[in-house]
Amino acid sequence: MRTAVVAGNWKMNGTKATVASLLRGLKAGLAPGRTQVIVCAPFPYLSQVSDELSGSPIQWGAQNVSQHTAGAYTGEVSLEMLKDFGCTHVILGHSERRALFSEQDDVIADKFCAALAAGLTPILCVGETLEQRESGETNTVVLQQLMAVVDKAGIASFAGAILAYEPVWAIGTGLTATPGQAQEVHEILRMCLRDLDEAVASKLSILYGGSVKASNAAELFSCADIDGGLIGGASLDAEEFLAICQAA
Ligand code: PEP
Repeated sequence: MRTAVVAGNWKMNGTKATVASLLRGLKAGLAPGRTQVIVCAPFPYLSQVSDELSGSPIQWGAQNVSQHTAGAYTGEVSLEMLKDFGCTHVILGHSERRALFSEQDDVIADKFCAALAAGLTPILCVGETLEQRESGETNTVVLQQLMAVVDKAGIASFAGAILAYEPVWAIGTGLTATPGQAQEVHEILRMCLRDLDEAVASKLSILYGGSVKASNAAELFSCADIDGGLIGGASLDAEEFLAICQAA
C-alpha cells in the first residue's frame, strides 16, 4: 500500500493576503483522510505558511534549495533555513528550474542528497518535452533524469523520497497526459527502480503533474502506478485543490 500524496506547487505566485486566504480555505475544507497533503510555497511566505499551518495535517515545503550548507552563495536558501521554517519537503528538478535556470542532473542529484541528509523529503521531478516525446525519446529522457539521481544517491535513498512525472508539454498548458500515457511512463519508472530494489520501488509514491484539475484527477489517480499529483495552477484555488486531494 503506497501513500497517496497531493502536493501543490504555488510557483512564483501569491501575496500575504492571498496566501492567508488560500491557507484558511484549505484548513477549513480539508476532509480527514489518508492522503498526504503538501503545499510548496515561495520562500518569502514560508514563515507565514508555518504560522498558519501549525497544528494542521497539511505539510509544507519549498520549490528549490541550495545544495550548499551555508556561506558565500548570494541569493541562495539553505536546507537549514527551510527546516527553521518547518519545511518537510522540497521540490527538486522541476522542469522550469531545468529549462529556465539551467539546472543540470548532477546539481539536482547533489540537492537530492543534501535534502535527504538534512531530513527533508525531496520531490524529484522528471519529464520530457513535446519534441522529445514526438521523437520517441520519452523513456530515455525520464530514465536518464532518474538514474542521474539514483547513481549518486543510491536506490535505498528513494525510501525517503517522492518521484513526480511531469511531461513538460503538459505543465501550465492545459494539455494533460491521458491516463494511459501517464501510467505508461509511471510504470516504466517503477520497473526501472524495481530492478534495483523491489521493496523501495513498490513503496515509492510516484505523482503525476501537468494540468491536473478537479475534473481529471480521479481518472489519473485511478491508474495502478499513479499515487497522486503535483499540482501547479490548480493549487492556487482552495476549492479546486481540495477536490483534487479528495480524488487521491
Ligand atoms: C507544476 O508546475 O508542477 C505543474 C504541474 O503545473 P500545472 O499543474 O499548472 O500544469
